[in-house]
Amino acid sequence: MARINPEFTDELKKYGVFDANACYNCGNCTAVCTLSDEENSFPRKMIRYSVLGLENEIQASLDPWLCYYCGECSTTCPREADPGELMMSLRRWLTAKYDWTGLSGLLYKSLTASISAFVVLAGLVIWFGAYEQFKLEPIMHYGHLFEMFAIGFVFTFILLPNIIHMWWITMVKSGKKASLSAYFKALGELIVHMFTQKRALGCDDNQFRWFEHFILVLGYLSLLFTTVFLDWFSTQSIFIIILGYVESAIIFVVTFDFVRHRIKKDQAISKNSHPSDWFFVIWLFMMGLTAFITRLFIDINILDTNVWMYIVQLIVLVQWALIIVPFGKWTHFLYRSFAMYFHRVIELEG
Ligand code: SF4
Ligand code: SF4
Repeated sequence: MARINPEFTDELKKYGVFDANACYNCGNCTAVCTLSDEENSFPRKMIRYSVLGLENEIQASLDPWLCYYCGECSTTCPREADPGELMMSLRRWLTAKYDWTGLSGLLYKSLTASISAFVVLAGLVIWFGAYEQFKLEPIMHYGHLFEMFAIGFVFTFILLPNIIHMWWITMVKSGKKASLSAYFKALGELIVHMFTQKRALGCDDNQFRWFEHFILVLGYLSLLFTTVFLDWFSTQSIFIIILGYVESAIIFVVTFDFVRHRIKKDQAISKNSHPSDWFFVIWLFMMGLTAFITRLFIDINILDTNVWMYIVQLIVLVQWALIIVPFGKWTHFLYRSFAMYFHRVIELEG
């Protein structure tokens, strides 16, 4: 028997904006959504589930992840119910459900908790700098060790268990049968989506935003590789130094444009900004900018006398790695790619 949560729409409001009472089920949103077909009514099915409080059905569904927030449904809604934002709110809610630590839900629902977490981590980095008497060499050494440790720890103990949990809820518990060979055959879909997020191309006015996302993902992943594995801050290789400058510049230029759109609210996706959206773009912008300036200070030989610059860079990095990547909006990139993968597996099984 379906479990009904009569408080569901109130709970969902903590994750975004949606006026469930405004919807009178006219179907305009489904008519314009390119994802709708005879079997699946986007986004109306999720609207009905939400209004009825069918939590388990929403958890078992991959639909919220298939939506790329083109905003067509919200523009067409005669009641301004904003169904596109409902799908976004459901993605945040699902993120909290997949996360075994419970921290995603806490940080999404409480701005105080998020700000406290940022402040505590900044304080710890400053304390560590003071402990090392603000000497650049040991601070940079441990900063680099932290990068490697954080990647391994966050992936192994948080992201991987959460992806397995997502798979369990959406595929196993919901009774979707799939053979090993289907999982194997669909692997290409996972890789393509992870690097290109190509589904966003389905939205008519989204081509440039898709392009920005695409080069941002490439810039971000390659800067991660350049900093952690090619040791960008210590290398003497001119090729690696220039590569790092280019990658970090891509990140702060593209994210500056994202921030600009969020301030102007001139795109469907930037009309409603949850604090987690702001944290994501601002921290990514600061990651690119502080990394760029830190390397510049190294190249003009002034970092030794301006250790504060590396401390600022480290604070941004630690907050990014321990808050935004495991519990914030960064996870959407991962869950969406896996949702596309599982969706393809289901398609292959017919
Ligand atoms: S277009 Fe608006 S009112 Fe009509 S079904 Fe969709 S959300 Fe409801
Ligand atoms: S935002 Fe776009 S893709 Fe998502 S449900 Fe609305 S029309 Fe469909």
